[in-house]
Amino acid sequence: QATAASVQEVIELFARVCAENEGELGRLDAVAGDGDHGQGMVLGSRGAVDAGRAALERGAGARTVLLHAGTAWAESAGGTSGALWGSALTAAGGALSDETKADPDAAVQALLSGVEAVRRLGGAQPGDKTMVDAAAPFAADLQKQSQAGEDLGSALSSAAAIATEAAADTAELKARLGRSRVLGDKSLGTPDPGATSFALLMEALADHLK
Ligand code: ADP
Ligand code: MG
Ligand code: MG
Repeated sequence: QATAASVQEVIELFARVCAENEGELGRLDAVAGDGDHGQGMVLGSRGAVDAGRAALERGAGARTVLLHAGTAWAESAGGTSGALWGSALTAAGGALSDETKADPDAAVQALLSGVEAVRRLGGAQPGDKTMVDAAAPFAADLQKQSQAGEDLGSALSSAAAIATEAAADTAELKARLGRSRVLGDKSLGTPDPGATSFALLMEALADHLK
């Protein structure tokens, strides 16, 4: 199934980006957290790749590939961000059908559903210094660009750039949620690891779909 194969390509892209940035994400998380964000993203994305590939080989469509990949991401990563990324992939899959053809509107819907799931499950508000600080402005811009008739590649490039800027801006925030809240003050001056990895993955996705 062509769309399912494209979805699997994106999951494999995510796993490469996580592996390339494992050390840096770990260092960011070590400043005020427990230092395992790079490791969690690598384990989660690797689990998602394996589960997605297995589903694809059984002839699954895009929806089923993402549902399996999301479940595997959460199980393989452990940790807060693993549960959130797992639910994001699962929700993105839920927005698609197994018969979905490569459709830019469906892709936007899947991405928005993924972000919505992170917000619902994590309950973080903008300003709490979490991945929501990158994901919320990303989703808002993606929706705005696509409603304005921008093609998927341009809309995603714009939204990813906003996510990157927003992730950098989290350096000025104190953590109020997640493990880092205990050491909230210590996180001042360092960007949030989860916001940073979100932006890295969306930049890679935007490049991939250009
Ligand atoms: P853990 O905190 O369990 O060690 P990670 O280190 O992998 O998990 O992930 C930490 C990241 O998770 C944080 O940098 C933050 O972006 C994100 N995070 C934590 N709690 C929440 C939440 N409630 N909502 C959204 N994101 C969150
Ligand atoms: Mg951590
Ligand atoms: Mg941890």
